[in-house]
Amino acid sequence: MLELRNLIDKLYEENYLNKDELLELLSRIDDAGRDYLMEKACMTRDRYYGKKVFMRGLVEFTSYCKRRCIYCGINACNRNAQRYRLSMEQILACCKKGHELGYRTFVLQGGEDSFYTDEIIVKIVAAIKKEFPSCAVTLSIGEKDYGSYKRYYDAGAERYLLRHETASKKLYDSLHPGMSFENRIECLWNLKEIGYQVGAGFMVGLPNQTLKDFVEDLCFLKKLKPHMVGIGPFIPHKDTVLASKKAGTVKMTVTLLAIIRLLLPEVLLPATTALGTVDPMGREKGLRAGANVVMPNLSPVGVRKKYALYDGKVCTGEEAAECRSCIDRRIVSVGLIPDMSRGDNILWERKIQ
Ligand code: SAM
Repeated sequence: MLELRNLIDKLYEENYLNKDELLELLSRIDDAGRDYLMEKACMTRDRYYGKKVFMRGLVEFTSYCKRRCIYCGINACNRNAQRYRLSMEQILACCKKGHELGYRTFVLQGGEDSFYTDEIIVKIVAAIKKEFPSCAVTLSIGEKDYGSYKRYYDAGAERYLLRHETASKKLYDSLHPGMSFENRIECLWNLKEIGYQVGAGFMVGLPNQTLKDFVEDLCFLKKLKPHMVGIGPFIPHKDTVLASKKAGTVKMTVTLLAIIRLLLPEVLLPATTALGTVDPMGREKGLRAGANVVMPNLSPVGVRKKYALYDGKVCTGEEAAECRSCIDRRIVSVGLIPDMSRGDNILWERKIQ
């Protein structure tokens, strides 16, 4: 077996390790090895994207959800969850405020809420594109059929975030009653085929998750080649069956971020809010591990706390402008540069409709 450093060098040079090597790397990595890995990950990010960190304005537009994911605070079974929906006018107002602050990407995320029919989603996307033609619209509204995804794309949405959550079917099934692992994976392939910039991703530190499960996640990502990968620590929510479980760690999350950067050098990689929740310096640590995206919140302050996926979520009290300047400072503090452009993946070009 290769020495730890040689494994990291191989990953850096070839953007590939086989399953055994990935498991070896995850099992043996120590603090010095992690520093070395993160250094290589940053060198790789800088080679493709420079020192830029892309800013996405996040609008969490509904806390209603028909799914029963056992880790999530807004799952359909949680009677204590506070539910809200934003109207099209409210969503547009969030984008307007974001646009004034300089954002050129809007991410519309929500639970799987049947209130928003395909017609309504198409209307919302088209209205945003009409008012802000140079901006990118990202959707993150869960599993839909091919035809629905195509309609949103034709209306102007160009990015879609759908974390696979875990690439181990057994673990997936234990966390998602009534859902199909195969369908979620198929959705990701469909999104790619339609022409979206696709974001996959997974949670780190789920109960019963092993290093072998992470190897499955990494191999799946290498195969799918998504344009974006969102990973963040699992954090328990008090009203779920996982309330008493431990949260995922910063160390494991940054290790995986750095490995993903090396496996998929051109990927757009967020330093997530969940990472900033388990550690006040979590997002900075993510950026030091090769991340290059942040997603400050543009949702109205009045609803922020209601989009409670997990306990202790940060950034629920500040106005959009405060969020923007807080994140700016964090990015600059690690020697990187906030970038307000659309920030497309360098490998992507929109397919002609
Ligand atoms: N409904 C859409 C979907 O399924 O993709 C988007 C909304 S969903 C709430 C967004 C993400 O939140 C999920 O993909 C999941 O990874 C994350 N999430 C939910 N509960 C979480 C928890 N307890 N800890 C960390 N992340 C969580």
